[in-house]
Amino acid sequence: MSNTKYVFVTGGVASSLGKGIISASLAKLLQSRGYSVTIQKLDPYINVDPGTLNPYEHGECYVTEDGAETDLDLGHYERFINIHTSQMNNVTTGRIYQTVISKERHGDYLGKTVQVIPHITDEIKRRIKLIGTKNQLDVVITEIGGTVGDIESLPYIEAVRQLRWELGPSNSAFVHLTLVPFLSASQELKTKPTQHSVKVLLENGIQPDVVVLRTEHDINADIRRKVSLFCNVDPDAVVQSIDVKTIYEVPLMMQQEKLDSIVLRKLGLPINEDPKLEAWRNFVTSLKNPKHHVRIGLVGKYVELPDAYKSIMEAFVHAGAANSCKVNLELIQSEGLTHDTYAERLSGLQGILVAPGFGHRGLEGKLLAVRYARENNVPFLSICLGMQCAVIEFARNVMGLTEANSAEMVDTTPHPVIDLMASQKEVADLGGTMRLGAYPCKLSKSSHAFEAYGSADIQERHRHRYEFNSAYKEQFEQAGMVATGINPDTKLVEIVEIPKHPWFVGVQFHPEYKSTVLNPHPLFVSFVKAALEQVSE
Ligand code: GLN
Repeated sequence: MSNTKYVFVTGGVASSLGKGIISASLAKLLQSRGYSVTIQKLDPYINVDPGTLNPYEHGECYVTEDGAETDLDLGHYERFINIHTSQMNNVTTGRIYQTVISKERHGDYLGKTVQVIPHITDEIKRRIKLIGTKNQLDVVITEIGGTVGDIESLPYIEAVRQLRWELGPSNSAFVHLTLVPFLSASQELKTKPTQHSVKVLLENGIQPDVVVLRTEHDINADIRRKVSLFCNVDPDAVVQSIDVKTIYEVPLMMQQEKLDSIVLRKLGLPINEDPKLEAWRNFVTSLKNPKHHVRIGLVGKYVELPDAYKSIMEAFVHAGAANSCKVNLELIQSEGLTHDTYAERLSGLQGILVAPGFGHRGLEGKLLAVRYARENNVPFLSICLGMQCAVIEFARNVMGLTEANSAEMVDTTPHPVIDLMASQKEVADLGGTMRLGAYPCKLSKSSHAFEAYGSADIQERHRHRYEFNSAYKEQFEQAGMVATGINPDTKLVEIVEIPKHPWFVGVQFHPEYKSTVLNPHPLFVSFVKAALEQVSE
């Protein structure tokens, strides 16, 4: 019998209050007190996973080591607690129903009417418990997506209500995050929406143990007492989460508010160790006191929704702090770059990153960004589709293959320098069928990549269908673009570099997914360092 304890995090009043950050901060604090912990996200939509969602819908699709396409909150979890999450950490309604329906077809419920209660709720509970028992964790924090009162989240709320009784009262804790709006006309903070939101939870049979109030202004003792009175929680279990400059301050702020102690007490776990937050504090200090500044352009087609590039943006935060520098990231719409404008738009940047993506829109702008960086010796990093753009641009403008392209864009191109992977040729379904997750890569010793990683054997995460066409490898290398990272098993080209350029690296994998506060990604760190050298020149 496992002794895993469970914390459930719900949200009320409004979406986007930062349940993911509160969950990750609590996990960080419990971890810093010596507890083993993970975080799980339950998403109430019908998609089996977010892999087929347009980034405009739901932000970035985050990829785990085991190749799960998941919600971007899992990125926060990994960045905060520095552990690998997996398929088990993200559950959607689509996946729950898929499992239940295939069990039904298999005859597992033979004779029974299959219903939301108990069959769907049982499957939800099974997945919550499994992650704790399988990994023998002290604490699992389960974040329930959406806002209480939403029709879609009801089965999740019901499942965790049942679970509380099954687990026994001291084995679970409920944290409810709400918003306390400030009315500027009357200069008042308002708790009524919080009261209503807790009422909705109570109607569903759940009494929260902790209420976290997201606010723009300090919550005074009177307001805490009022929330305590109306929501049946201890006054010291009313926690304020005031807006801060960076999400990385939230764990420190939650520690001041004693969120970790309140939860541990509720779970009957000892609060004996002092939290070890030294490295985290140092990171926040260098983040808030940069000695230098660099301007880096991120060229992509989803820039109107910065969440589409969440992990890249956070990787720059980590790499900036590691270089005592603030990275001023400019999001540049690739569709807006034209032959007449690109040089002017990109001038003054100390680094250029061409982003991952899919499809033809904005491609020509990305190629212009590559060209600018290549011809003007601007430090350059490109990821996945970005790397493929670097290859196409080099083929067209250096090797003279003017019609070179990716088969993704023009499948009849005479020079498919980027081609569909052989393993993808028979694939018909779009969901979960890309080359996904971690694969090994061997680096050549004389490369920027090797210099950055300090090791020849690396492992990075992937999400793609197309690849560098190795039939052209020799031609590229003769012209000055070399493959410096190769998959040792399949020989797939993972990294290209231009040795004559000060720092030009294109990677087929996604380094951004593995950057964390405590382990900033070496490629981002080196790229920012190269950009910084431009400033001092
Ligand atoms: N569309 C490209 C491919 O499938 C790149 C994918 C990406 O950037 N994630 O290979």
